[in-house]
Amino acid sequence: MNYNTETINSAAQQLAAMFQAAVIEQHNTDQGMSTIAQIETGMREVLRQIGMQALGLFLSSMQATPTSEIACTCGGTMKYQRMRPATVISVFGKVRYERSYYAGCSCKQGKAPLDERFGLEPGAVTAGLAALLALAGIEFSFDESPKWLAAYLLFDVSENTVRSETEQMGALQAEQEQTLVKQSQDEAYLQARQRHPGRVPPRLYGSMDAAKVRIEPRPRKGKVPETHEDWRDMKVLCWYEVEPVPPAQRSSRQRKQVEREQVALRAKNMRYFCDITEADNFGKLVWATGCSVNADLSPELVFLGDGAVWIWKLVTQYYANAIQIVDWYHAEEHLEGVAMAAFTVLSKRTPWLEEVTLALWDGQVEDVIMACKALAQSCTQARQAATYFTNNIERMRYDRFRAAGYMIGSGTVESGCKQIVTQRLKLPGAQWTVAGAIQTAKARAAWLSGLWQTLCNQRSALPLAI
Ligand SMILES: [Zn+2]
Repeated sequence: MNYNTETINSAAQQLAAMFQAAVIEQHNTDQGMSTIAQIETGMREVLRQIGMQALGLFLSSMQATPTSEIACTCGGTMKYQRMRPATVISVFGKVRYERSYYAGCSCKQGKAPLDERFGLEPGAVTAGLAALLALAGIEFSFDESPKWLAAYLLFDVSENTVRSETEQMGALQAEQEQTLVKQSQDEAYLQARQRHPGRVPPRLYGSMDAAKVRIEPRPRKGKVPETHEDWRDMKVLCWYEVEPVPPAQRSSRQRKQVEREQVALRAKNMRYFCDITEADNFGKLVWATGCSVNADLSPELVFLGDGAVWIWKLVTQYYANAIQIVDWYHAEEHLEGVAMAAFTVLSKRTPWLEEVTLALWDGQVEDVIMACKALAQSCTQARQAATYFTNNIERMRYDRFRAAGYMIGSGTVESGCKQIVTQRLKLPGAQWTVAGAIQTAKARAAWLSGLWQTLCNQRSALPLAI
């Protein structure tokens, strides 16, 4: 939309004159409207009030001349009743407008066509405000959000409104994912996609991890408080591609990687998905979202994870040909654990650790297993590590993986877990139901994946719940 510059100029002149007069007047009476911050905030408040009135006038003006009858969704007929006022809460605050109202059908429904046209629900927030509230809700705890929002919006919104809009955004994301799941199980869709796949990434990465969420429902008024708390796994999946990091932008860790003959890589085009659910069910989401990024069609699919059994079971089940890599840092950590447990003397511990770490780096996993087994009799950690390395032996051929230029660290999904779970779901005072935790996490994952606008568009097009 192009805005008319002349109209804006003339409105701006009026606004400037209004503040000029106010400043002069208040100067005379020695009251404060003198700092730039006071003037800025004052202007924002005036603009907000203008917006509030303008939006109401606009909506009322879009009301066409009422017809005497309209068709009802039930097949019957509704009759024009009267012009009826309504209120919605917009980005400017409460907006009042008038629109024609129809009722009188045998099905007892009533309807305002203007509300339908603009996706308005009287008494509720508009889609524009909903997007901002949910954005606060995925970043701040629900009880902190109103404070931040009041500073930005200049009016008050309740904690419950922020919570419900955030959860609704997550529910929309869940709906989108369910659509993908249905599609990905439909043979006709899969075949059509194979003929016209769109962009197929030449080398795609997938990575999975999980983080614990504390489920402790908030006690509700009049209900027996649920006192038990419970820890549930939030599983997180990330699809991504990688690119080399230019020398000047390398972190100290990446500079070290380069010294060790490993290319410094960073993730791009990240797509995060998450859920609290059993591995089998999560697998459907892995497959479905994989179809949406053409994971199954990519000539080179690389999976990274820690040693968790459920991860590799799903990868093998859905992507039998994928290259499987155990995160280098997890593997290295296991060796450190063994060294700490098996050697008390530093002069023995350090050379042992250096030797096995080098063997692991060179993909000599058999040597690593032997070194652990040699300590297994007297050291539980060594015995467990031997099993861990044996179970994951082909996923630790780091010499080959490095030669192929693969990323060997699963930091991308771990950072996703941190951003989705730790930085939001574990905020102080956070109390979650399973559904609330899932929806908030899904909304946050959508934001981190650049899928937010899609959700906002969907929120605008929501059918009315009346
Ligand atoms: Zn009807």
